[in-house]
Amino acid sequence: MFEKLIEVLTLLDVSEKDAIKSVLMAVGPSNPASLRQSWMANKSYGNSAPTTELLWSLMKESGFQCCQCGSSFRLQFDHINSDATDHNRENLQVICHNCNVQKRRNNPVKMFDFQYELVLATIDLWKENGELPTYKQTLEKAGSDSACFGGASYMLNYVREMLTR
Ligand SMILES: [Zn+2]
Repeated sequence: MFEKLIEVLTLLDVSEKDAIKSVLMAVGPSNPASLRQSWMANKSYGNSAPTTELLWSLMKESGFQCCQCGSSFRLQFDHINSDATDHNRENLQVICHNCNVQKRRNNPVKMFDFQYELVLATIDLWKENGELPTYKQTLEKAGSDSACFGGASYMLNYVREMLTR
């Protein structure tokens, strides 16, 4: 269990403490009080926000899972009708960051899934061949027909640096 995870943590030289802190940061819901404050200070949210009690109860009702894909990755609130000033309970849903970015950018590719596939492809090819793969090989291995890395290139370069230190 978690073989891949342990392999990645070891290759990237991440301490157990940092790994656990990172997991908690990634799966814990955002603090409703801070979220409320930031919405109140933001014109695009109509300088308004639901109560922290409502936000927390929506989060609890979701089972701390994305309503679209079931992930617990960086859970957020989504305004279903895309009107960020409409904070009615019926208009709010709990969604993961991955799904939210995809919805906002109207992009068929899930950025964080793509990044994940690219990183694992790089590591697998590096193990198979004993050297860094070309970017083209990485994209092929990741099963992508895209010719570019989009926002994933810095993460990919970080992994490549760490593998060849
Ligand atoms: Zn999701």
